[in-house]
This record gives sequence, C-alpha cells and structure tokens, in this order.
Amino acid sequence: MPHEIKAYKCDYCNKVSRTRAGILSHEVACRLNPNNRYCHTCKHCDMNGLIEKVEPFSTVFYGEQGGYEFRGMYCNYYQEPIQKGEKAVYFRECETEGGDWGPERNVPCTCFYYERKDNTNATR
Ligand SMILES: [Zn+2]
Repeated sequence: MPHEIKAYKCDYCNKVSRTRAGILSHEVACRLNPNNRYCHTCKHCDMNGLIEKVEPFSTVFYGEQGGYEFRGMYCNYYQEPIQKGEKAVYFRECETEGGDWGPERNVPCTCFYYERKDNTNATR
C-alpha cells in the first residue's frame, strides 16, 4: 500500500526533498532563486532566444528544405548566446576575487548587468 510522506519543496523551483536541511541547502544555490543572480532570473535573458538560423535552400525538384532554427538561452544585453565556462558573457564584467596571492578569478553570479526579472516563475 502506498503511504503519504512528508517532503519539502523549494520556494523557487519544483525541486522536492524529504529533509528540510536538504531543500535549504538547495535553495542557497537554486538557479531560480533571484538572490543568486543567475541568468535564469535576469530580465536580459531570453530562455528561448534565437541562437542560429539557417535559411532553407531551394532546389528545382524538391522545393525549399534544410532550414532550421536553434534556440536557447540568449543574453539581450550582450546580444550573444549564454554559454558556460570562463568565457561566458556573464563573466565579462563581474566581481573578481583573488589576485594578491594567486590568479584573479571571476565570481559566479556577480554579473554587473544582472537585473531581476519581474516574473521568475515562467522560466526553468
Ligand atoms: Zn530550487
């Protein structure tokens, strides 16, 4: 027989944990928590932005074919697709740490152009 269990849900996304501590540690890093300033909650981010468009080519015998659109996360501030890694657009102007005793590192989620989106529920 199935039985009911108690669980905790993240305030920002759909993640569920059986322990309160588990969901609290998730919320600290949740991409949809606006306090974390991820692109997901930034008004400059288009979750379904046009990354690449390939025009169809026409042939005499088969008509138009071969065109497609590739969509994904796109930054409307930098006008570039959002990709991960050290060269990501959100690292272009952001806070850094280190430098005195070691290499300077970009601090994640400190993009200077982050602006909180009004509605953060519609993005995943
Ligand atoms: Zn979450």
